[in-house]
Amino acid sequence: MSDPSLLDDLVAANRILADQGVLDAYGHISARDPARPDRYWLSRSMPPALVTAADLLAFDLDNNPVEGGNHKLFFERIIHGEIYQARADVMAVLHNHSPSLIPFCNSDTRLRPMVGNAAFLGEGAPVFDIRSIDDGGDLNVCTVAQARGLAHALVQHALVLLRGHGAVAVGDSVRQCVRRHHCRNQRAPADCGDATRARAFPHAERNRICPARPAQGPRPRLAALEAKSDARGRLIPRKQIK
Ligand SMILES: [Zn+2]
Repeated sequence: MSDPSLLDDLVAANRILADQGVLDAYGHISARDPARPDRYWLSRSMPPALVTAADLLAFDLDNNPVEGGNHKLFFERIIHGEIYQARADVMAVLHNHSPSLIPFCNSDTRLRPMVGNAAFLGEGAPVFDIRSIDDGGDLNVCTVAQARGLAHALVQHALVLLRGHGAVAVGDSVRQCVRRHHCRNQRAPADCGDATRARAFPHAERNRICPARPAQGPRPRLAALEAKSDARGRLIPRKQIK
């Protein structure tokens, strides 16, 4: 059993980041367990604004839940395990789709610190383009190869932007992660500048990512996303997803 204060911090982080607009229905924050560095804690798949301690689950660094159970899980949790494997110094990982960051994900304008308390951004946040790994997906991070590519792009930075998607931030504690993102979230809109002229996706790429909806039946892309975890929440390789 983990330190209750760690889980309390993680619950508070979910609520605060949702309130600040950093997390939406799909973002998530995790904490590495200091007593078991080979494990991390993350909520089951649910809106961050509603997370309680009972919703937090332990995962190994291959992103499998330690306990069984019939929980619906975030398929992008693969980001967390790969970063914890790549960075022994990281104790918290935050994945979000904060609207204030999106212009910097898709433009030539680098997100840079404009005030002292954003100095953790260093010379600027790198951008991970998932097409550098493969070009057949929907921009979500679904495979080990994609998550490792993301961790490689992060290197020793505190934040990496994901082209056409969002961002991943890391810290040496949950509290540091929240504090930094509160600061970053306050400043980014005012500092957008030329990033507001971000280039839109080319028409052909837009059609591939968001194909026209069929007249009947579920959207194929959403059906595929639902199938990416089996009943125990273990990830299913993309090639096995029908
Ligand atoms: Zn995402």
